[in-house]
Amino acid sequence: MRVLVGLDDHDSPEGGCTTHFATIFVRSIIQDRNEVRLLSLPRLVRLNPAIPWKTRGNAALALEVETDDPKDLFYSLVNLTEEYDREFSKGKKYGRQPGVVVLPSSHLQSVRQFYIKGLKDVVIKGDVIAKLSKLSDTYFTLNRGVIGSVSALGFAPNEGFTYELILYRKSYIERPNLDDIIKSQEEKEFPKLFFNYDYLKNVAISVPRGPDPVLIGIRGNDTISLLSVAQELVKSSSLRDVLDGAMLFVTNQHTGVHVTDTVQPRPYRSVKVRGVVLGTEIKPGGDVFMRVDSGYEVYTTVVYKETGTLARAAQLLEIGDEIEVEAVVKPSTEYGLLLEAEAIRIVNLVDYELSNPKCPVCGGSSESLGKNKGFRCRRCGFVIKSNKVAVPKARGLTLSRYVSQRPRHLTRFDYVEVSRSEPDPKEVQDLLHKLSELFAPKAGLNFI
Ligand SMILES: [Zn+2]
Repeated sequence: MRVLVGLDDHDSPEGGCTTHFATIFVRSIIQDRNEVRLLSLPRLVRLNPAIPWKTRGNAALALEVETDDPKDLFYSLVNLTEEYDREFSKGKKYGRQPGVVVLPSSHLQSVRQFYIKGLKDVVIKGDVIAKLSKLSDTYFTLNRGVIGSVSALGFAPNEGFTYELILYRKSYIERPNLDDIIKSQEEKEFPKLFFNYDYLKNVAISVPRGPDPVLIGIRGNDTISLLSVAQELVKSSSLRDVLDGAMLFVTNQHTGVHVTDTVQPRPYRSVKVRGVVLGTEIKPGGDVFMRVDSGYEVYTTVVYKETGTLARAAQLLEIGDEIEVEAVVKPSTEYGLLLEAEAIRIVNLVDYELSNPKCPVCGGSSESLGKNKGFRCRRCGFVIKSNKVAVPKARGLTLSRYVSQRPRHLTRFDYVEVSRSEPDPKEVQDLLHKLSELFAPKAGLNFI
């Protein structure tokens, strides 16, 4: 039987990471037992970035496996979760509620709605439990973690995906500096590898700073490029005593799938709204506040200074410009709703301004003689009987999409082509085998 496995909330402020748990699941349950077979790469699914009570990064995991006994698989996962809490996450101490769902793939359409809601809105636990309780051969935890776990199941890679290759480290061993390797690899492979290096701060973005077991997570849209980075990293002697496993994930990162087109933004959603700029205010420090009219309502958008080029573009916007804002909507005591922009597409710029005509005789500038009385040349005194004329205005902006330099996990980049054809089970085995061969001799482990 083909079943989907959903996992969420296996981390805590002290350690652990749901992707790491999924990797251990693949290693301990799938590789060690013949009765469970992995059918696709594990899926790292990012959910609604707009909800305030999200866990770090708001990621849940989904895997598709073949098994004859979904009930036994579920209880094995529950036991593994207990072990993981003791050994890695210590999540109980922090009230974490790791979720596990095992559901036959034939029920996918019944839970697909939770992915869409989980991405764009808020999923209610009671709705999840009510739905899952009606489905045959379906097993799930009753805690809060069930929400993310079930939401992850509905992610459909054929609607667009990218990859993340995650390398793990042994507990508490300090991460070596990988800035140079990541920079040179991204320069070589861009845009097949993307958003791994911050060229302004000169650091690898893909290396986390927290207590989790992730050594590095490399983003890309091409498995060959990702394997070639893995190869370079393996060559680095600084990784010899640090590495503890790796996994390649199919993700919805950077596909822009969280954004809903609307004219009326609502709280805790990621929206795309088109409208006309009514005014901008640049605060001391550089944040830009804009009033934008969508045709249905006027809303306030903030473009934080930290968004870099996006804030600099917003500073150049003027009254009358037509824009399309991609933003997370937050309730605000001061503004009612506040749209925190992650990207702005400039649809139309007011690029002409009205000015006094040039003198047709000598080319000099003119001054107004009063309303409807024409203009007089400042140089030769010639009187010009005309109205103001439209002259092109330099704006320093182009009709393109400006994206935050601190994007969210789901933010789409125009230069990144999303893939739509997921590796089939044979390719999956082949990719995992290659990863295993790369890392196993190095770490002396049965890798992946
Ligand atoms: Zn003149």
